[in-house]
Amino acid sequence: MNALVPSDIQHLVPAVDGAVLQPDDQGYEVANDLYNTTYRHRPAVVVAATGVADVLAAVRFAAARSLPVAVQATGHGPSVPTDDAMVVGTRLMTGVRIDPVARTARIEAGVRAGRLVREAAQFGLAPLNGASPLVGTVGYALGGGIGPLGRAYGYAADHVRELDVVTADGELRTAAPDRNTDLFWAMRGGKGNFGVVTSMEIDLFPVSRLYGGGLFFPGEAAADVLHAYRKWTTTVPENMSSSVALVRFPPVEAVPEPLRGRFVVHVRIACSGSAADGERLVRPLLGIAPVLVDTVRDMPYTDVGSIHQDPTRPGPYRERSTLLREMTEDTVEELLRLAGPGTDCPVSVVELRHLGGAMSRSPLHANAIGFREAQFSVFTVASAGPDRAAVVDGAQHSLVAALAPWRLGGPSPSFLGASEADPRHVEAAYEPATFQRLREIKAGYDPENIFRINHNIPPAVH
Ligand SMILES: Cc1cc2nc3c(=O)[nH]c(=O)nc-3n(C[C@H](O)[C@H](O)[C@H](O)COP(=O)(O)OP(=O)(O)OC[C@H]3O[C@@H](n4cnc5c(N)ncnc54)[C@H](O)[C@@H]3O)c2cc1C
Repeated sequence: MNALVPSDIQHLVPAVDGAVLQPDDQGYEVANDLYNTTYRHRPAVVVAATGVADVLAAVRFAAARSLPVAVQATGHGPSVPTDDAMVVGTRLMTGVRIDPVARTARIEAGVRAGRLVREAAQFGLAPLNGASPLVGTVGYALGGGIGPLGRAYGYAADHVRELDVVTADGELRTAAPDRNTDLFWAMRGGKGNFGVVTSMEIDLFPVSRLYGGGLFFPGEAAADVLHAYRKWTTTVPENMSSSVALVRFPPVEAVPEPLRGRFVVHVRIACSGSAADGERLVRPLLGIAPVLVDTVRDMPYTDVGSIHQDPTRPGPYRERSTLLREMTEDTVEELLRLAGPGTDCPVSVVELRHLGGAMSRSPLHANAIGFREAQFSVFTVASAGPDRAAVVDGAQHSLVAALAPWRLGGPSPSFLGASEADPRHVEAAYEPATFQRLREIKAGYDPENIFRINHNIPPAVH
């Protein structure tokens, strides 16, 4: 139970420039309207923060009343309902400043990937963004961040240089390689457990174009495509990032023909080498089976968001993920048995993302991302309301369980969703010693666990 008395809010309102919204206020419903609609959130109060001062006022107010605090940017990474908590919304904090000489970007908490990509592209630079332009850059980086340049340069978290964060004691701290180093280590991977990030500084890379896009094959060719893709990934250089997904498209107009209502295999390509190298590397894939749609081309980096074609519409998405040490012929057969042609798998997307490369190496400044020897991430997602939730959860559970012989660790911190908010899942996302250290650091910075409306890492108890 929280200790918020509605009239108490009058003490918060004058301290905040942004809106302070309670359930009966106009704008409250819109503020809780998120990308993932699995939950209908009913927080006690939403603070639509406009800057550091607003976040400080909000966290101080909540901490004084032992009110749990949730941070929300876009709603792409749901965990638990925010009911009766304070939500600090960061959508209005959209400042971006590129330093083309230092090749860095300073980003406020509400900036989405697409915006950052466009800003950096003005200088021929690129961030380590993920697949969807709509995902928040801070939430993504705090979970690790596996993107189209991942094999070439590493996890997004590996290239966070500095974080400004409001911690549970209501102080603004800078976490950097030489300041609050424990916090700096923990936040890069430990997600939103340690405070509200108001801004961060990240590295940018001299990438202005990609050879990339998607190859869609008919679902009936899934066995040939998956086996060939598996072998192909053992031959490609680090500048080739890719994934393959078994996709069951709904029969809706938003999906273009010839994909509408079809079961297909979607190979996604992002090669940061030359167009000639990209073409040469992709060529063997073209001969696997008839290609339904081929969008692979030399593209400006600003088109990177078109490669995966992630859904942009809000929905009740249910997600499960894991990491694989290796993918063998038997792994492929197991996937085909549960999600291949002829099965009635209710999971719309089963994706295998090729890891390794720079993601397998420790970054300059160590962080909480582990299991770096993993060669693939497996990510499954389906849009399912309450009527289909149990069926989808069951199928996702079976898929992840069937991959046990090849698994390494549990879910990937990057892809933790609402179905993985259970403490067992969160713990499994980290190497055991890492999880213990995260709990110790949490106990130092947030002993009351006010930041618990997330994929929670509970403070260590002594
Ligand atoms: C369509 C789609 C595509 C995706 N593609 C990729 C991908 O390619 N690679 C990848 O690695 N991941 C990917 N993800 C996962 C995504 O990175 C995570 O879900 C991430 O947490 C989303 O962050 P957000 O801020 O957009 O979402 P939100 O739901 O707003 O936030 C998620 C959580 O992040 C934390 N958080 C956000 N902002 C802050 C802040 N300022 N301070 C402290 N904590 C904060 C909070 O704990 C919050 O609960 C994808 C997700 C979706 C739905």
